[in-house]
Amino acid sequence: MEKRVYNFSAGPAVLPVPAIEEAQRHLLALPGVGSSILEISHRSKTFTHIIEQAEANLRELLAIPSNYHVLFLQGGAQMQFAMAPMNLLHGSGQPADYVLTGSWGKKAMSEAKTQGATRIAFDGAAANYNRVPKQEELDLDPAAAYVHITSNETIGGVQFPSEPDTGNVPIVCDASSDFLSRPVQMERYGILYACAQKNAGPAGVTMVIIRDDLCQRSPSTLPSMLSYKLHAENKSLLNTAPTFPIYMVGLVTSWLLEEVGGLARMHQINRDKAQILYDCIDGSEGFYAVHAEPDSRSIMNVAFRLKDASLEEPFLKEAEKHDLTALKGHRSVGGCRASIYNAMPVEGVKTLSRFMDDFRAKNA
Ligand SMILES: *Cc1c(COP(=O)(O)O)cnc(C)c1O
Repeated sequence: MEKRVYNFSAGPAVLPVPAIEEAQRHLLALPGVGSSILEISHRSKTFTHIIEQAEANLRELLAIPSNYHVLFLQGGAQMQFAMAPMNLLHGSGQPADYVLTGSWGKKAMSEAKTQGATRIAFDGAAANYNRVPKQEELDLDPAAAYVHITSNETIGGVQFPSEPDTGNVPIVCDASSDFLSRPVQMERYGILYACAQKNAGPAGVTMVIIRDDLCQRSPSTLPSMLSYKLHAENKSLLNTAPTFPIYMVGLVTSWLLEEVGGLARMHQINRDKAQILYDCIDGSEGFYAVHAEPDSRSIMNVAFRLKDASLEEPFLKEAEKHDLTALKGHRSVGGCRASIYNAMPVEGVKTLSRFMDDFRAKNA
């Protein structure tokens, strides 16, 4: 068998080995079915059971109340940048508030502008998006249709430690890169959406968890495929669902429930892993520096720089030789980034931290 490296990719990203192994075991034929998951109808009894199990797992992990729908959609998280305003803003006469803590939130707002009025409730641009706002810094409109936040900005490694208070205005949250990494207070959200390829499965499916009253707002003038209401009424089977990604989300969420023991446990493991890297960087006497301010640091994406930028390329090359891969920062900001999602084992983080100490000792 080919060896596996420690893969710090921001997405598509590392998946739990037991989930991949189960998919591999059953790839030629699902037990008792005689066909592969790749070959069966999305309307078959077998797939109905698979999608229902994936939904049940998500409901259990996130304690999703019964007045929320769980949708499995295509088009990625970025489709939701447009779909949320198309369904909630268009024709409402209300504005939408956007909290900008990095490039994903900015992108979400520029898509919303095509559908209605937007307001900036906070913009972290002046400090180069290195932190989330304090509650009192939020300039919220109580008449807004929703407040959009990005719970974890994947590129800058900036994460909300918990949900901001938005009063009676529902939060619409892009949780793509910290979905299932910790418990959430679901009642605080109107919509929580996340593409699968960071923490929940392979690319190709996006989960949209939406409160029923918001789902009912979809204008009837929308094309069917863009209507939350129609997707909910059709239980995500308005058209051919991405069967394999949904199957993988089912396996990954089963792993979280059965082997990890739920999101509180996962959160503790994630915090411990992040602490190892932040301690390594903070203890490096400035050789490495974290982009995010201490109370906004992400436990999923550790974005950092080397003080001497000319050492960055040798750092990445050397890391590669130690089977520590995909540590290059996003092309828009440069630097380095270690994405340490749920499936990154603690041993991977320890190995990276030891490597970083050694590299510093040799190059400081
Ligand atoms: C990866 C990511 C996206 C992009 O998702 P696509 O599925 O490629 O559209 C959006 N938002 C955040 C926070 C992300 O991490």
